[in-house]
Amino acid sequence: MERLLELQECDLEIARLRREMEDIPRRKAQMESALDAQKARVAEADRALLDAQARIRRAEGEIAEAHAQERKYREQQLQIKSNDEYRALESQIAAVKSRVSALEDDELAAMDEADRLKAAAAEQKAELARQAERVAADVADFLARSKTLGDGLAPLEADRAARAAEVDPDWLARYERIAAKGGGAAVALVEHGTCGHCHMKLSPAQAVQARRHDQLVFCDFCGRILYAPA
Ligand SMILES: [Zn+2]
Repeated sequence: MERLLELQECDLEIARLRREMEDIPRRKAQMESALDAQKARVAEADRALLDAQARIRRAEGEIAEAHAQERKYREQQLQIKSNDEYRALESQIAAVKSRVSALEDDELAAMDEADRLKAAAAEQKAELARQAERVAADVADFLARSKTLGDGLAPLEADRAARAAEVDPDWLARYERIAAKGGGAAVALVEHGTCGHCHMKLSPAQAVQARRHDQLVFCDFCGRILYAPA
């Protein structure tokens, strides 16, 4: 019976290592998807900056056109004789100037915006670099941990096989059936006259038998093998 308990210790440890190994790819994928999200934020920040820079160039282009228009009006004024025509051109020049002034305001606003977006994009990139470094370190840790787990598993499995060979084959078969079905511990400790797994009250006869270890005793409720120290 003690051998069966030792076997169970071994099986629980093997199961724990396997669970941790299986969890590693999931945690790795989680970190990588967080990194992808940060890459998307960097791309978004770069795009916003490019938009602002395009607005600046557009405003500059329109300002240059407006200045050219103003020069054309001034040249026309030189050739004009009538006062009315001169005044009409003068008011068109005033309109162009006010348009230039509005465009310059737009350009300044876009420049401020671009400065802000440039800083934001740099911050997102710095964050990405920090995250990438963290992920690389964690992935290296995961790989190392995975190797450690894998290395630990082989001797444990050899140990398990040796222990299993020492258990009565019939007991072993029943133990393995219960362990496979119940997932986890097949042997439950008797605690204060109850089954340590399902906590149901055992009959006094069961509690006594569970201490004798000369035959397998099962919990009537959960079917676990009952064990009480002699
Ligand atoms: Zn039980």
